[in-house]
Amino acid sequence: MQRDFLQRVLFEDVNARAVLVRLDRVLDEIFAETTYPPAVQVLLAESLLVVAMLSSGIKFDGRISLQLQSTGPISLLLADCSEEGGLRGIAQVDEQAELPDSPEVLFATLVGAANLVLTLEPADGGQRWQGIVPLEGEGLHEAIEAYFQRSEQLLTRVKLAVGVGQASALMIQQMPGQHDDPDGWNRLEHLIATVRADELLEPDVKRLLDKLFHQETRRVFPARSLQFHCPCTRERVLGVLQGLGTDELQDMASQQETVEVRCQFCNRAYHFDEFDLNAIIQSGDESGPTVH
Ligand SMILES: [Zn+2]
Repeated sequence: MQRDFLQRVLFEDVNARAVLVRLDRVLDEIFAETTYPPAVQVLLAESLLVVAMLSSGIKFDGRISLQLQSTGPISLLLADCSEEGGLRGIAQVDEQAELPDSPEVLFATLVGAANLVLTLEPADGGQRWQGIVPLEGEGLHEAIEAYFQRSEQLLTRVKLAVGVGQASALMIQQMPGQHDDPDGWNRLEHLIATVRADELLEPDVKRLLDKLFHQETRRVFPARSLQFHCPCTRERVLGVLQGLGTDELQDMASQQETVEVRCQFCNRAYHFDEFDLNAIIQSGDESGPTVH
């Protein structure tokens, strides 16, 4: 049974596509050593499913990220995926806050208090693209449907299911342009509406695609594997340190021999000694003040 994959299906007559995503080990790796409340864990798993699905539609090398920015007990929730299927995610939760156990109730508390931010970041350092909308709907699936309707006028239907140690998503989306089958979209929409969460969580979820769409003319693409991957590097961490400014860096250098910075996503540790810190301070002085 294939685990951690993305499968694309194209319905050429209807000019629509379907994307199926399955996450297994990726979730274990991302949630290892974290202590997120259960409802936050579900929301982060759903966000990972969404960025994996959306990564199948981007036409450049780079990353797509989904962020929930809110003023509430979850100050940040972020998931991103590279064009090669490298996923990572993180949530920042106020430890004092009492969060509801139910993911639906948690989502409802975020509606009106959070924004949904989707960002496309080309790997070559080209122009970043960002879309920000208020979070709406009864769950992340509806928020994504509304996002596409609003920002790109693309009809989209999304199903998300998160179980213990695995999660699956299925999306259908109308593509821009003409199609030969006027009733096709309604048929697809009807089919996906019948899918239950327990069906999405079955071990052999690929069979669901055959079962659902067996009467539709379709092109099934080879499944692509997904994995946990964090693109952090020493250079990037250096960039973050540089952004702290000379005073704070001098403070750090005087207080400890080695500064340890841990990546929030993968927990990898980067060490900088006095010599490194002085070099960063000097390079900052030479290039003058920077704005971040
Ligand atoms: Zn990292």
